[in-house]
Amino acid sequence: MDWALRFHGVGNASAVELGSPMATIERDGAPWLTIDCGSEGLTAYLARYGEPPRALFVTHTHLDHVSGFERLFVSAYFDPARRGRMPVYVPAPVLPLLHQRVGDYPNVLAEGGANFWDAFRVIPVGAAFWHEGVRLETFAVRHHWPGTAFGLRLPGSLVWSGDTRPIPDLLARHAAEGELVAHDCALRGNPSHSGIDDLEREYPPELLERCVLYHYAGAADGEALRARGRRVAVPDQAFALRAPSAGLPA
Ligand SMILES: [Zn+2]
Repeated sequence: MDWALRFHGVGNASAVELGSPMATIERDGAPWLTIDCGSEGLTAYLARYGEPPRALFVTHTHLDHVSGFERLFVSAYFDPARRGRMPVYVPAPVLPLLHQRVGDYPNVLAEGGANFWDAFRVIPVGAAFWHEGVRLETFAVRHHWPGTAFGLRLPGSLVWSGDTRPIPDLLARHAAEGELVAHDCALRGNPSHSGIDDLEREYPPELLERCVLYHYAGAADGEALRARGRRVAVPDQAFALRAPSAGLPA
């Protein structure tokens, strides 16, 4: 079984030409679990696969990560084969924020008769959850208010940092099996996001080697990060993953 991570967007909230930060874990070349759903990211997703995401994990509710939800609602609600079927895994503390940001519009259909979440199968998750027989883990990261942004781990395979400041202590625990680490990183950090100086100061070389950087400010910044010897993702790029280490069905 082949596993890969495909980036749909790699830019920060202002770098729309790079797409909103979003990626899909692929299994045997097919989309398996998509991480976040911003507007530009969703457009890139549809261009790549020609169909809406099959399953979603939501890291946090900044709009560059969830603004594609309204389009997903329309496409899922009006398709009887898909209405209410798409799993949307949401860390439980994020769920009220997700509802406030995308679900709480009065009378989602002008003609009435529908609730926003009728279109999806929302699954609040804790520290671990199962998707199609495979176990994944979540962990709170450091992005704005505590407990509002989460990373995702496919043990032995992938850690997706989500938007975060450096988290060396958390990655020592949650990326301890040689996972590829897709990490928020710009040329310059700020109170919301990691910069390359931050990561090079706080992460051991072995961990930096495993990082693929995304969430940067523009193509020139991507080149500058590459010139420092770092792996930097571009839109639609895929990275091979090792098979998950645990939780696979027999
Ligand atoms: Zn954010």
